[in-house]
Amino acid sequence: MILEQNKLPLLDYLNEKQKQAVVSTKGAVLVLAGAGTGKTRVLTYRFAYLVLSGQSGLHQILAVTFTNKAAFEMKDRITKLINRPIEGLWLGTFHALAARILRNHAEIVGLEKKFTILDIDDQVRLLKQILSHENISEKKWPAKVLLSYIQRWKDRGLKPNMVSPEETKGLADGKLLDIYQLYQERLLALNACDFGDLLLHNLDIFQNHSDILKRYQHQFRYIMVDEYQDTNTAQYLWLRLLAQEHGNICCVGDDDQSIYGWRGAEITNILKFEKDFPNADVIRLENNYRSTGHILATASGLIAHNKARLGKILYTEAELGEKVQTVGVWDSQEEARQIGEEIEALQRHGQSLGDIAVLVRAGFQTREFEERFLTLGLKYRVIGGLRFYERQEIRDALSYLRLVHKSSDDLAFERIINVPKRGIGDTTLRHIYMLARLENISLMRAAEQLSKTDELKPAAARALENFLKDINRWQEKAAQLPHTEIAKIVLDESGYTNFWQANPSPDAPGRLENLRELITAMANFENLEQFLEHVSLVMENDNTELQDMLSIMTLHSAKGLEFNAVFLPGWEEGLFPHQRSLDENGIAGLEEERRLAYVGITRARQKAYVFFALNRRVHGQWQTSIPSRFIEELPTQNVDIKIQDQFYTPMYEHKEQHQTMVLADYQQAKKNKTIKGNFLIENPDIFENETGQYTTGMRVFHQKFGYGMVTMVEGNKLDIMFDKAGSKKVISNFVIPADKV
Ligand code: ATP
Ligand code: MG
Repeated sequence: MILEQNKLPLLDYLNEKQKQAVVSTKGAVLVLAGAGTGKTRVLTYRFAYLVLSGQSGLHQILAVTFTNKAAFEMKDRITKLINRPIEGLWLGTFHALAARILRNHAEIVGLEKKFTILDIDDQVRLLKQILSHENISEKKWPAKVLLSYIQRWKDRGLKPNMVSPEETKGLADGKLLDIYQLYQERLLALNACDFGDLLLHNLDIFQNHSDILKRYQHQFRYIMVDEYQDTNTAQYLWLRLLAQEHGNICCVGDDDQSIYGWRGAEITNILKFEKDFPNADVIRLENNYRSTGHILATASGLIAHNKARLGKILYTEAELGEKVQTVGVWDSQEEARQIGEEIEALQRHGQSLGDIAVLVRAGFQTREFEERFLTLGLKYRVIGGLRFYERQEIRDALSYLRLVHKSSDDLAFERIINVPKRGIGDTTLRHIYMLARLENISLMRAAEQLSKTDELKPAAARALENFLKDINRWQEKAAQLPHTEIAKIVLDESGYTNFWQANPSPDAPGRLENLRELITAMANFENLEQFLEHVSLVMENDNTELQDMLSIMTLHSAKGLEFNAVFLPGWEEGLFPHQRSLDENGIAGLEEERRLAYVGITRARQKAYVFFALNRRVHGQWQTSIPSRFIEELPTQNVDIKIQDQFYTPMYEHKEQHQTMVLADYQQAKKNKTIKGNFLIENPDIFENETGQYTTGMRVFHQKFGYGMVTMVEGNKLDIMFDKAGSKKVISNFVIPADKV
């Protein structure tokens, strides 16, 4: 019989070690292995194997995944492997499974069957009520902070009566334990529970009603757990109770991917597995099937900097592939721009968007990308949008309207500055960007300033001036006319309607219809502002159409997933590693951050890009940032470092747009101090525009016009008599004192 089972065809798709993990169905098995070695695949195949070999019924397996999405995918896979429809599996997250059990026995813990699970907002609201009732100052003790204490206790399986008073000393004026107790009472009164309670109530039921526990122990003859390194104590206790009778438990995990310490995960769970389950079979997988050589080596090299790890060997039979691209850019907007461009390039090479992901460290980072992708028309999830608003002509029209509404809308400006074509080319744009960055002003403002100088060719300057006049005129009208009228005027006068009318392509009529439909949609709102607000909200709605959309998500939620190309932006000190982790947990925090970086890199099959920006706006303030220490920890031979310097100084214009620096050069440059702030190229030719730096009579050099003498100074605008080019108006950032050349 066993021999027969071992011949099941699905085993042919596994390597020897994986096979061993799949067919060892009795007793405890721990698969401890690095990223992409097929741990999740082992669980999936094991599930199918148990069923196909007749060892287990479909509903006798309890399988725990880390996310609902992972559960969904696993179910899909199992269905294919066993080739028949399956329903009602006990396959899901700890929360989902525990909730299902709790519904069957809710009355035991004082809940009704149809209890509500409160989301985080409701939890905070409830706690606030209690705090106010107890006269505890929310200013001093924010509800969110106190709630996280309560949650951590729940993660550890501690009910109020189990928390040692020592731990609560001084918290919430010494009342936190009472508050925890009151919070639990309030929840019951509301027939509700929070996420932590799901497990806690389960434990309560199992520990106090052995008959019920026995029932489940009997039902779940096999238990399997993915991402075991991120289980917390409550989850661990739950598993142990369910498994203790038969001991048939198979856990898979990777200590290097433990990234939920901040949420109560206990990496020790995986480390002491063999103690908990004596005679456990520990299987190590070493063949990575996911990533190319350079990517795997980069990830391995980085994680090797962690001290607290078991350490493991990983190899791949895949080719070396491309090196990990590490790119330094001027600021976070530029980062989003370049990532957008690269994604478009990948798309042109046939890469589907569904195979591309942008993985951020912190939630706030997504906005920049969302806006950028919206502007470019790249479909993205998890935050997708209505199709209508995704259409090119609608986005163009919206950009016009946004610019009319707000001159400082740089993304809108960028999108339509030369749409339809009006003779404003790349050179003009580059000047505008540069000035905007140097002066920290909007593109529109920069364009206004430039149009009044001789920096641009006369034709370009004229085109720019006309465009700006148009915008100003529309803005004035917008103050008087209904917004739908304005929209019509803008689309007509900008030449945009015409642009589609004259377009011979078969989809042009449809696009004109869409534009009319846009005006219809606008009529539902009182004014332009409300309408634009609506559009941005609609864009945020979750889109259920998951096909071929780019994914933007946090690194934490990317665990277990894989993509052909992965973008990892924001590798800057303070952001990644995140300052809070460092402040709160020191070295341990840093190592968890590094594991997060390891998770990020190992999501990539073929291409991985690490980005860092030298300037980033944090809470509305521009801040200079230093590249993440993780960048220096990446093994030199597997990484290409590029520093994009096109925006640092106009002096670079004659050079190639991108300067590529290999890490060795970078390190040398750093030694020679030609790099400042860790990365920024210190170029004696760059200087900030100091007001009053230029005075009449001073000799200066301009990249295009050569040497000359300042004849008039007006703010940052200079009149210069150039030796060869004659009298010109220029902007002070574009010249340097002649003696500094
Ligand atoms: P992570 O640590 O990131 O969760 P993992 O160890 O769970 O990774 P899987 O996601 O199961 O790894 O597998 C990684 C990739 O390798 C998947 O695309 C999977 O289909 C493939 N793979 C795994 N094992 C094999 C195998 N024996 N033959 C071919 N492909 C495999
Ligand atoms: Mg996995």
